[in-house]
Amino acid sequence: MDNSSGLDWAHVCPALEHVNIRMANALLASGCGKHELTLVAVSKTFPAEAIRAAAACGQQHIGENYVQEARAKQEALKDLALFWHFIGPVQSNKTRELAEHFDWVHGVEREKIARRLSDQRPVALPPLNICLQVNVSGEASKSGVPPDELAALAASVAGLPNLKLRGLMTVPEAGSDPRPGFRQLRGLMEALNAQGYGLDTLSMGMSGDFETAIAEGATMVRIGSAIFGNRHYPV
Ligand SMILES: *Cc1c(COP(=O)(O)O)cnc(C)c1O
Repeated sequence: MDNSSGLDWAHVCPALEHVNIRMANALLASGCGKHELTLVAVSKTFPAEAIRAAAACGQQHIGENYVQEARAKQEALKDLALFWHFIGPVQSNKTRELAEHFDWVHGVEREKIARRLSDQRPVALPPLNICLQVNVSGEASKSGVPPDELAALAASVAGLPNLKLRGLMTVPEAGSDPRPGFRQLRGLMEALNAQGYGLDTLSMGMSGDFETAIAEGATMVRIGSAIFGNRHYPV
């Protein structure tokens, strides 16, 4: 599919339906059919009209990676009741816009960023939902908190007044088997919950690996290309 033609988003509803069926089947096969499973439709690089097409067939959770791009779409879609998830790397000069205009931030990996988000969250809004991004593959270049620093980060984020620590997020190393990392992320969340955190969100799984993620306990999958089509630049 080509998103430069841009005008016809008729494929979005059938693609969403297909993804939802694959998710339901993966959840059934996982044997944990009672847990919640939320689809975040990742619309980076696609225009507001593509999101509008998804919303027209019931999609409510939208994921974006770039603040300026997301803000323009939010303005264009003000008439819709959507939940906006920021899934990209968080830069400290962007925290105010995230705190003011998003419902979820998935990529939190430093206390300083979390503190800014809490300080800048408008009091009129509910607490900002937070997932801590964990670097389960241990690559030096990748983003995410190292697993051995997670407990300290969770403790400080959980204490911030205008955030709600919901769970953990990961993006597996491209080209490797994602299953061990997904399993590790789940183990890390269970370990935190054994200390009383009450986390309910494992944000893991993308177009290429969401069924594996669901088998390993994902409660939230972030899916872009399987819904909207191929992106013109890899991000
Ligand atoms: C782009 C992106 C996705 C969606 O990727 P697809 O392979 O298109 O499904 C999910 N999570 C993050 C963090 C992303 O940047």
